[in-house]
Amino acid sequence: MTLADLRKFYRKNGKLIVTVISGALLVAAFAAGKLQYEQLSSALWILAAVIGGFGIAKSAVIQLRYKVLGIQALVTIASIGAILIGEYWEAAVVIFLFTFGGYLEALTLDRTRNALRSLMSLAPTTASVRRDGKIVTVDPQEVRPGEIVIVRPGEKLPVDGIVLKGEAQVNQASITGESVPVSKGPGEQVFSGTVNEVGFIEIETRRSGEDTTLARIISLVEEAQEQRAPTQQLIERFAKYYTPAIIVLAIGVFLLTRDPLVALTLLVISCPGALVISTPIAVVTGIGNAAGRGVLIKGGAHLERAGRINIVAMDKTGTLTKGELEVVNVRAFKGTADEAVFKAAVAEKMSEHHLGRAVLKKVPQGVALPDPEDFKVLPGRGVIARHGGRSLTVGNRRLLAETGFSLTAVAEAYVQGEEERGSTAVFLIEEGELLAVISLADTVREEAKDLISRLKQAGVKKVVMLTGDNERTARAIAGRLGIDEYRAELLPENKVEAIKELKKHGVVAMVGDGINDAPAMAAADIGIAMGAAGTDVAIETADIALMSDRLDRIAYTIGLSRKTLGIIMQNTAFSLLVVLLLVAGVLLKVVVLASGMFIHEASIFIVILNGMRLIRYGGGLSWRTDTRKDKEKGKGGTERPVQPGPA
Ligand code: ADP
Ligand code: MG
Repeated sequence: MTLADLRKFYRKNGKLIVTVISGALLVAAFAAGKLQYEQLSSALWILAAVIGGFGIAKSAVIQLRYKVLGIQALVTIASIGAILIGEYWEAAVVIFLFTFGGYLEALTLDRTRNALRSLMSLAPTTASVRRDGKIVTVDPQEVRPGEIVIVRPGEKLPVDGIVLKGEAQVNQASITGESVPVSKGPGEQVFSGTVNEVGFIEIETRRSGEDTTLARIISLVEEAQEQRAPTQQLIERFAKYYTPAIIVLAIGVFLLTRDPLVALTLLVISCPGALVISTPIAVVTGIGNAAGRGVLIKGGAHLERAGRINIVAMDKTGTLTKGELEVVNVRAFKGTADEAVFKAAVAEKMSEHHLGRAVLKKVPQGVALPDPEDFKVLPGRGVIARHGGRSLTVGNRRLLAETGFSLTAVAEAYVQGEEERGSTAVFLIEEGELLAVISLADTVREEAKDLISRLKQAGVKKVVMLTGDNERTARAIAGRLGIDEYRAELLPENKVEAIKELKKHGVVAMVGDGINDAPAMAAADIGIAMGAAGTDVAIETADIALMSDRLDRIAYTIGLSRKTLGIIMQNTAFSLLVVLLLVAGVLLKVVVLASGMFIHEASIFIVILNGMRLIRYGGGLSWRTDTRKDKEKGKGGTERPVQPGPA
């Protein structure tokens, strides 16, 4: 072993080594005392104090340089004071307990960061790239956008990209938190860090290295864990004044009682050690737990606020429903149904809206669609386009009204019938004449059915559906899902108003799909974006981003936040109580320096363990069965990012 090795070993295990040495000296000093070797015993007590205390004093000096009066300074002052008045064993025990406590703290805090570390371990290590007709193995960081990457069965995908060739079952647990594999074929988006369980695919690289979704999730989670929660900020501001105040109090007590030991004890035990750690431990653990389930919480402030949510507003299309609309009926009022679909498709060719894309899908393969000569989107209403010199309008009733069009009784009756069935009807108008009514239907997400009861269980009082769709369709869907309240025919700006109104009655979360709900999500107390993997804007702007499309994550997230908030409250109350009791104990002389320190360290430890309960929180998600499935298949790299374990 070289000196460098030794140094490395010390850097890694320094706290443990110091704890063990001063612990051993403590035992020796105690034994020497029992055997009446008084002087040897005193020397050993002092040696233990000096060896353990050196590091503490050093960090106290460093902190003072930054004008921070921390617990290290107080422990140093108290121990020196104890030695000066001849209480050697007290000084040694206080220092030992402090060092040992610090070691345990580091150990447990490490555990809470595990979630992130396992997320990082999911990052790919090699990539097979096609270069100059050969397949070469390179570092995934070196793959450039546009290059073709080959992924064999059992391999991790090294880049974000689009499948060019082949079919595969891909396990996306690292991104979405869901370990049921999904099929990926040509044209579909795939992510770095996911695992090809079965199949052989070629991917065209879009992003690699630091730009991949996985890398960004990791850095966002890291940032989020660093961010201070409001409660923590409050406590830190409080601690800044509190510690100097304690010094003044200790001096006062000394002047009054003339008892240096009482004054020194007061110094040490009234440090707000547990108080300061009570919030961050819960926040770091909570955010880590969520990250492992494909939920990105963007910081302690959001986590705390999410714990107070009591009203949930939800978008309909693309959120409660899959957004995979299908044309179910075309009723032509002039010309044929096929002509109508063709014209509507030309008008919607540039549209990004779910409805527009569904109309495009209805055009038979092989039919060439010309570009419209002119095209305009009217959010929440439809599109206006021009083709063959004639104007084409595709949209809802509101758009008809705005363009001064009135429906015949026959058309109106037909549309109402379609809407009552839960379909969304859009009108195709050419040069002021109704050509057809196209009915589209969307499938309600499977988890939407028990969403409401799950949300209620998580403590939400009211669930409101906000939609731009028409009243009758909205009522049909809301009725089917048992939603308390719905507001229909809203334009994006009306959704913002609805959110503002709801905010008068509670803490409001807005859940949207990120396509046109961004303003409403921003107006809400908490904006939750669904299916954020792949849509950068959603990941960046939402307060909470769900990487998957699964609605059950919403109730889980609210439940987790509530539990986190609860633990923050418990921890804070407990820490304050302990300090108060200790101060009283010291003044009543039932607590001495060593026992005070013991209780102080124990309270820190209890607070940490309480926070770590969040590691196991599952919020009713069926992750247990997921894990078992992975194990059975025996596939590497599919383990859940968060492993349950004893706290
Ligand atoms: P939601 O709030 O349910 O997600 P939107 O606000 O996106 O719905 O759209 C509201 C309504 O506007 C749709 O139900 C439809 O009637 C009409 N609409 C919006 N965009 C289009 C489009 N591209 N083509 C036809 N109709 C559209
Ligand atoms: Mg929508």
